[in-house]
Order: sequence, then structure tokens, then C-alpha cells
Amino acid sequence: MISDKLLFTPGPLTTSYTVKSAMLRDLGSRDIEFINTVQSIRKDLLHLAETSKEEGYEAILMQGSGTFGIESVISSVIPHDGHLLIIINGAYGERISKIAAVHHIAQTRLVFEEDEWPSIQNIEHELMNNPGISHIIAVHCETTTGIINPVEEIGHLARHFGKTFIVDAMSSFGAVPLNIKEANIDFLISSSNKCIEGVPGFSFIIARQEALLITEGMARTLSLNLFDQWKGLEADGQFRFTPPTHALLAFRQALNELATEGGVKNRATRYSNNHFRLVKGMRNLGFTEYLSPEKQGYIITSFYYPNQSAFNFKTFYQLLNERGQVIYPGKLSKTDCFRIGNIGRIFLDDIDDLLLNIKEVLMEMGVFISHK
Ligand SMILES: *Cc1c(COP(=O)(O)O)cnc(C)c1O
Repeated sequence: MISDKLLFTPGPLTTSYTVKSAMLRDLGSRDIEFINTVQSIRKDLLHLAETSKEEGYEAILMQGSGTFGIESVISSVIPHDGHLLIIINGAYGERISKIAAVHHIAQTRLVFEEDEWPSIQNIEHELMNNPGISHIIAVHCETTTGIINPVEEIGHLARHFGKTFIVDAMSSFGAVPLNIKEANIDFLISSSNKCIEGVPGFSFIIARQEALLITEGMARTLSLNLFDQWKGLEADGQFRFTPPTHALLAFRQALNELATEGGVKNRATRYSNNHFRLVKGMRNLGFTEYLSPEKQGYIITSFYYPNQSAFNFKTFYQLLNERGQVIYPGKLSKTDCFRIGNIGRIFLDDIDDLLLNIKEVLMEMGVFISHK
């Protein structure tokens, strides 16, 4: 068995051997076993969102990575005279804005600092002054920094003002508890290769039935048409175009392993234990986190580069890579940071190994280590 490097990244992630092994099959897309697998996945996803079909929600699977899922929703659920309010405090919010622009959807951008929560007051102000806004979109965990945005509060505003609410919950779903109904979310998007610990290949959308039903005929593309994809899955349990059969089998296994671990709550505990162990060790080495602790989620952590000329991120990354550990560069617009993901099949021992290697690599580079 090949021993891969451990991925301390926001996805693709390190997955279990059993998840990878689940792909050693060739199922036909019309095979009854495959159709039943898809049905059970859709049902379990609703359960993870703390809801069900009976409560009026639908789970739709869409080929492609997470961005395809976001583009599917944006290009499929906003009418031609619609207007999207985009709440931005990082690169993923910016990506949403680009998608809306490509599809010529009217948009208002509310941009906040990358180390700040979006201001609920400012959002409320915008909604009062801009009655043309029909839809609001926010990112739950902005993976650029790891900040957890207040989607529940934004959801309350959406309900108050009668707007459709879309949430990019890509890097949080399955590990940060969220009740879709209580948060008043109409469309939530996530993907196979983040906190559920499957392999890349598809995204999924959890939609409020009533909000979905009115979108018939609104789609601006053929392949990413959300309503038609849902119709197809409902009609005969099939995808309209070639499904990622192997990724779906892996995902079925990943969902079983999530349940065995004790569900979202226990996965949250494992990831946050990883995060706190990492932060403690990194502080001991003299590193500082980019976000203040109350804003920092446990999904991914951003650290400032050490303020020393001997530090070079490329070398740091490369030396860790040679030791079998893959970290992630920063994506901040103004600040030099790197990121370490706490998600995937990663445990406290792995964090300890990483910290030990970081210490050795810093010494090798001649970067001063503090002795706090
Ligand atoms: C990973 C991620 C995405 C999707 O990225 P892909 O590369 O298309 O999978 C979107 N939004 C957030 C917040 C993410 O973390």
C-alpha cells in the first residue's frame, strides 16, 4: 500500500483507506445498486442539514467541484430581473461575484475586511435602501482565512426582508453544526471532498422545495441547470449526464464513517481538537494566527509568516513536503500568511508530527524559534 503525504489543506483532503477502497467497483449508471446509493446519499445529506424531504427540503447532486455547484445555483435560481447581494470577506466571496458577472446578473457587493465579520448593521442598511435586491449570498466558513461568518444572523435578515438566501457552506458542512431551516437558508452548497471526507467529483445543493420549484425555466446553462438536475434525480434516480460513479461510492462510505464517528458533533470535536493542538504548538514556535481567536473557526488556520529574513515560504513548504506533509499557501489580498487545514483523516498524532517537522524545518532554515 502506498503511503501518501498527509494533506493539511482545505481539499482535496486525506481520506481513509476504506473510502478509497470503496471505489474499486465499476457500477453502471442505471444499475439499481447505484440508483439506491444515490437515493441514500441524498437522504443522508438532508439529515446532516438537520432536515428531511418531509420538512420540505431536497438534496441535489451536481457533477464537478464545489465551484460548479455554486455556479449551478447562481445561474439557475435568480430570475432575469433578479439582483444578488454578495457578502464578501475573502477570495471565495470574490469568486461568487465573478460568477454572477459572467452570467450578467445584477449584483451589489458588500465588501468587508478579511479579518472581520460582515457587519449585520451594514447588511440591514443595504437591504433597507436597496429594495431591488432579491437574493442574498454569504460564505459560511471563508476558507481564505478560516473565519466563520454569522450565516444564522444573515438568515434572519433574509427572512425579515423576504429575500432568498444562498449559503456557500463548502468547507463547513458536515463539521460545523447548522440547521438549514433555523438559519432560513433556501439553497446551501457544499462538495464531496471537504468535511465529509469523500473524494473530489461532485458538489451538492440542499434546497428548500418551495424556493426550488419557482426556478423552473430560469437556468442560464444546460449542464448546470439545478431544477432539471433535480427533476432527473426525482424521476428515475439518475443524473442527466455521466455521473461520477466512483466518487459517489466513496462518498457513500464516507457518510457511513461520519455516522460511525458520531456524526457532525463528534467530527466537530475532532477537528477543533486538531485546531487547538495546532495553535498551541505554533504559538510555542513563535507563530501568530492571522485571525483573533473568537473569529477563528476550527476548519483551517492562517498564520503570519515569521517576521524574519531567513523565512521563505517556498522553502518551508518544500521541506515539509519532503517530510510527507502538505500545507497550504495563503490567499489573502494584503497580508503574507500560510494556512494549515485541520480537516480530513487527520488526528492529534498527525498534528504533533507536523509541529515537530515544522520545528526541524525552521531550524534547518535558520529561522529563530521562540522558547515560550
Ligand atoms: C473549496 C471551496 C469552494 C469550492 O472550491 P472548488 O475548488 O471548486 O472545490 C468554494 N467555496 C469555499 C468557501 C471553499 O472552501
